[in-house]
Amino acid sequence: MYRLPYYHQLSQRIGTTTVREKYDLDRHDEQLRSLRLLTSLLVAFYFFYTLVDIYLLPDITARSLLLRSIIMLPATALLFAYYNRPVSIRRKELAGVLVACLATVVWCVILLGSENERVLKYFYAGLVFLMVLTIVLTPPFEYSLYSSLFVFACLYTTIWFLHGATSIYVINHLALGVPVLVLTLIANYRFSAESLRLYLKNISVEQLREELSARNAELEKISHIDPLTGLTNRRGLARFTDDLQQLSGARCCIAVILIDVDHFKAFNDFYGHAEGDNCLRAVAGAIRAACTQEDLVCRFGGEEFLILRSDQGAQDFNVLTLAEKIRTEVAELAIPHQPTQEGRVTISVGVCAGPIEPDVELNTFIKEADAALYAAKREGRNRVRFHAQHADCGPHLSRPCVASSDNTL
Ligand code: GH3
Ligand code: MG
Ligand code: MG
Repeated sequence: MYRLPYYHQLSQRIGTTTVREKYDLDRHDEQLRSLRLLTSLLVAFYFFYTLVDIYLLPDITARSLLLRSIIMLPATALLFAYYNRPVSIRRKELAGVLVACLATVVWCVILLGSENERVLKYFYAGLVFLMVLTIVLTPPFEYSLYSSLFVFACLYTTIWFLHGATSIYVINHLALGVPVLVLTLIANYRFSAESLRLYLKNISVEQLREELSARNAELEKISHIDPLTGLTNRRGLARFTDDLQQLSGARCCIAVILIDVDHFKAFNDFYGHAEGDNCLRAVAGAIRAACTQEDLVCRFGGEEFLILRSDQGAQDFNVLTLAEKIRTEVAELAIPHQPTQEGRVTISVGVCAGPIEPDVELNTFIKEADAALYAAKREGRNRVRFHAQHADCGPHLSRPCVASSDNTL
């Protein structure tokens, strides 16, 4: 079977479908609308020509009325019913083409019954069927090609049996018929190839756009992740903060837990930077494991981590319990740290909690948590210190919350 030059591209897959299925699906509604309209027009012409038959060739009136009504009327009704079926547009186009071929055969049979000399001139109208199959219905090129060849063969077989036909008449007719066949097929070919080319171009632009937005989404994700620990970085925290600010007014409490690895400079100096990185990864893993999915766990700086918990997301707002759990779990990692008294890696933790209000920024919470962390460091490290922004959040905590910056567990 003859294929258009872009045909091989039609069998390429896009997700679960092929380009051809998508092409047929995308042009279905528009092409069906035009098929319905054109078919209605052609049917009107076809039945109008019954009057022309009666006027020009009165000897075939009965034959024309009979054949057109018992064959073409039901065929047309079936065709319109088929247009409403949930089948691909290609099949509908094929059905339209087949009915047009049938109409040609019926027309030829009608004219074969005439003994009127006008039949020879009238037979030139048969070339309209060629145009219908190429430039009017504009079906896919392969349908157009085979149906035109069929109609051409049908016309030029019939022509020899027409009343009064001579070889000169046939040659005259062919002088018009051959160019009509070839030129209208070329027009159909150019139209089919061009619309396919445009469609494929659109598809590739669409695919590029999808790829680009997927990559952008990936880049956006990566830009919010710290490559060493896999935790959210400060950029991610900033975005989260914007979302959080929208919660203000929803009467919600938030807590900031700030964690700093104790004597980490000494760790690096003693074990080397690479071991330092491993240690940070292990501490980050322990922190992440102790938190819930709703908590935002962020690498805030070199060896500093920040946890943000809101009582909107968390089922349990027990931040002091969480802070203490993290502190013990990091200590239980038992990462050796010889230069310190403890002999293993420990962390100091500062916690701040309070209601989020339009005029209170997250930075205020971070500053207070930092002050609490500084207190933990000052008092000997490896401990948790707490500061409450507002007593309202107290009942949510593991212990009564008072407006002091120095609550010790
Ligand atoms: P403190 O107990 O008071 O917190 O003492 P410290 O030594 O932990 O604090 P300091 O801020 O003096 O040192 C932090 C060290 O963290 C310094 C820096 O070399 C190290 N550091 C920061 N980022 C990284 C990192 O990505 N990898 C490694 N290996 N070390 C890091
Ligand atoms: Mg530090
Ligand atoms: Mg430190």
